[in-house]
Amino acid sequence: MTRRTRAVKRGGRRLLITGAEAVITSADGPVYAPGEVAVEDGRIVAVGQAGSTAASWRPHEVIRADGAVVIPGLVNAHTHSPMVLLRGYAEDMAFHPWLAAVQAMEENFLPEDIYWGAQLAIAEQFRFGVTTFAEMYFGMAGVARAVAETGARAVLSRGLIGVARNADAMLAEGLAFCREWQGAAEGRITTMMGPHAPYTCPPKYLERVVAAAAELGVGLHIHLSESRREQEEHLVQYGETPTATVARAGIFTRPVLIAHFVYATPADLELVAEARAGIAHCPTSNLKLANGVAPVVRWLSAGVAVGLGTDGAASNNDLDLWEEMRLASLLAKGTTGDPVALPAAAAFHLATAGGAAAVGLGEVTGRLAPGFAADLVLVDWTGPHLCPTHRYLSNLVFAAHGTDVRLTMVAGRVVYDRGAFPTLEIERVKAEVVRRAERLARSATPAGSGRE
Ligand SMILES: [Zn+2]
Repeated sequence: MTRRTRAVKRGGRRLLITGAEAVITSADGPVYAPGEVAVEDGRIVAVGQAGSTAASWRPHEVIRADGAVVIPGLVNAHTHSPMVLLRGYAEDMAFHPWLAAVQAMEENFLPEDIYWGAQLAIAEQFRFGVTTFAEMYFGMAGVARAVAETGARAVLSRGLIGVARNADAMLAEGLAFCREWQGAAEGRITTMMGPHAPYTCPPKYLERVVAAAAELGVGLHIHLSESRREQEEHLVQYGETPTATVARAGIFTRPVLIAHFVYATPADLELVAEARAGIAHCPTSNLKLANGVAPVVRWLSAGVAVGLGTDGAASNNDLDLWEEMRLASLLAKGTTGDPVALPAAAAFHLATAGGAAAVGLGEVTGRLAPGFAADLVLVDWTGPHLCPTHRYLSNLVFAAHGTDVRLTMVAGRVVYDRGAFPTLEIERVKAEVVRRAERLARSATPAGSGRE
């Protein structure tokens, strides 16, 4: 295991994944059954029927994928990874009190809490086949360090609160973070500016964030129209929707990743579609905080790049994107009254290439094709719940679970293999998180505790 991982890490190494029951290249691309994937220097160089790789191309290493289906690595298009420290902490609360409870806890976070929280979140995502995640948080150097060390791919942004006392310092920190980390970790890290939301970032502040993003040449990651209360209060305060306000502040002059967008109007959607912004659909978080169900079918009809997000573990409570994939489809069917809405292929697209496009990595990851990064997952196909296979995508979306992931690879490097995490010390990570979560719970204000 370790030997193989080390071999794959070295530049120019050739790796063949072969013997797979099937290779699903994308939601709309070819399926090779049985199939194989050839990887060189962390990139896919060939995908095809088993035995189709040129005989002259000799791999240094072979990974057998018998009894497994190979799929592109999943993309978690919106999360706050260190929030795993708050997993199960503030439960069954209304949205705004929940947010207050969470923020009270977060005030006591130390930089090392964030680092260890991010390590745990990355481990959990590897275990569930997530190879890329889009993140907005504070103390982002700790997250970036965890990404660099564990081998994940991530789109990172420092969350910015324009109404905070230290709003200017945050902006400067966000800018410095992008400068330091854009393209870091062999290109696995990209960065964005992260204005938290219209209700925490007034228009004047947003304009400064947009100017900074333009100067840096990066995009923006923002929460938009997440709750009914946000939408209604914004309408009262500004006489227009949150989307209209942020549009006037110029955010759509940059690539934008929007989280939630549940209460947006058709005119808002038009703005977003025209701007070619991406949206992260977060069905579990929206349900758990009773923020409703986003009209994802309408977004797709408008041609918007849509991905799936778990959001933070404080509102989910896991980072299992398979649940989001299935929920997205079931909710679309249930809320539109149309059983044809968001079929398996569309849901699988959201979790892979759709998410990659939404976070600005549509040319990098999310598909198994020559030139793309070797970000891929072996799904164990031997369980009774995956038998028989009439259609691979139906089983993947409606029957498979995150726990069926056997092996996860990012940029040609194995990061999860049957319970082992070759790039991180999982027992130490868990112990650090337990210890730190206990300290944080003890130090939180009584009003911040939803546990009793
Ligand atoms: Zn969020």
